[in-house]
Amino acid sequence: MNELDAIDAAIVNALSIDVEDYFQVSAFANHIPRDSWDTQPCRVEANIDRILTLLRDANVRATFFTLGWIAERYPGVVRAIVDAGHELASHGYEHRRASEQLHGNFIADIRLAKAVLEDISGQAVKGYRAPSFSIGPANPWAFDCICAAGYRYSSSIYPIRHDHYGVPDAPRFAFEVRKGLLEVPVTTVRVMRANWPAGGGGYFRLLPYGVSSWSIRRVNEVDRQPAMFYFHPWELDPDQPRVPGVSAKSRLRHYLNLKHTEARLRRLLADFRWDRVDRVYMNGGH
Ligand SMILES: [Zn+2]
Repeated sequence: MNELDAIDAAIVNALSIDVEDYFQVSAFANHIPRDSWDTQPCRVEANIDRILTLLRDANVRATFFTLGWIAERYPGVVRAIVDAGHELASHGYEHRRASEQLHGNFIADIRLAKAVLEDISGQAVKGYRAPSFSIGPANPWAFDCICAAGYRYSSSIYPIRHDHYGVPDAPRFAFEVRKGLLEVPVTTVRVMRANWPAGGGGYFRLLPYGVSSWSIRRVNEVDRQPAMFYFHPWELDPDQPRVPGVSAKSRLRHYLNLKHTEARLRRLLADFRWDRVDRVYMNGGH
């Protein structure tokens, strides 16, 4: 098999972006009150522009899990995403962890986000991702809400051990979590009888690029499964305002290697095949 045939035969992975601004991340929730969000300098518009350019250059389509809060204030961002052929999906409205909400508030939030996104884009929204992968054994009812709100798939579980999230014994690959609802966990690699993060986020910036590419290749070639990878717009933005007063650990996680993210993503997009989540997992997106 020559090199081009090998690329053609390679598994197509799912690429996703969680569309939120730097002041909305869960780790900063105690430092930036929600009622000040409207007065924070906005970086998401420019950062989405950079991402759309990056994806256009690589000829890759992706899925954008977008906050309703962002969509309402920056409808142009939503239209630019959809016009470029990407999939629009939901990250909820207010970026509250599912694990910190009551049933009624959670379903209202994800219904509102879906309605806002569909109204602006004119397209059906099929996918949902919970903020901070906040669905686990303590709140399985959240999947019933996601179903009831009309979503067809979720990507809300990260099967690792982490201090803020993670369900280490959850299935590692896509599974029907409720009738008609597919859960697509963020990708892990199985090494020494444990799951290690391989699906992006902070780990993609903290670890050398070779670790990420080895892990995804192993998932494709050994598990014979697509990878589900994610990143955030603020991860490509080394010049974002610094949030004062946060712990050293949160600072490290949020700010490390921001200036290298874009170049790393360009490598990642070139080294593997990528597409929208609906096309990778939902029979061609229908
Ligand atoms: Zn988020």
